Amino acid sequence: MARLLKCYGTCNNKYPKEELRSFKGKNYCNSCYEEQLNETAGRNQLYSVIKEYYNISYPTGFMLKQIKEFHNDRGYSYQIMAYTIKYIADFHKNIKLEQKYGLSIIPHFIDEARNFIYRTKILKEQTNSINLDTTKKVKAKAKNMTRNNGINRTINMEDLINE
Ligand SMILES: [Zn+2]
Repeated sequence: MARLLKCYGTCNNKYPKEELRSFKGKNYCNSCYEEQLNETAGRNQLYSVIKEYYNISYPTGFMLKQIKEFHNDRGYSYQIMAYTIKYIADFHKNIKLEQKYGLSIIPHFIDEARNFIYRTKILKEQTNSINLDTTKKVKAKAKNMTRNNGINRTINMEDLINE
């Protein structure tokens, strides 16, 4: 039997060596490998947004620490963090994104940014969908069709004998 190797990703499973793919010297199953690629792409994208909007050559040590904490402890995705920075820059022009404060502003605006994404998505869906009025289905009244007139049709054998 082929020796099974542990996937380094989040699935916690073991696989035959030939089913695993190497990423940065570690073995991953196919889906965890894809996940790693997405995570890395998302993180790199966040770094570019930070570089652009904070006008710095690379996120500071404090920022990197915050990213890790927000991602691991608060469950923020890299995408939503990047989006929140852009959102603040676009919709709160009075707020200056300053390097010295790191990314401390993200938690204050993340819900607002999420809400905005949500509302934009709904609006898009409404615009894109052809209104076929499928929601106006006539609700047939659930009439109780079972006729139970209360007559007990069981024949009492005693009565038959006594007649
Ligand atoms: Zn895996």
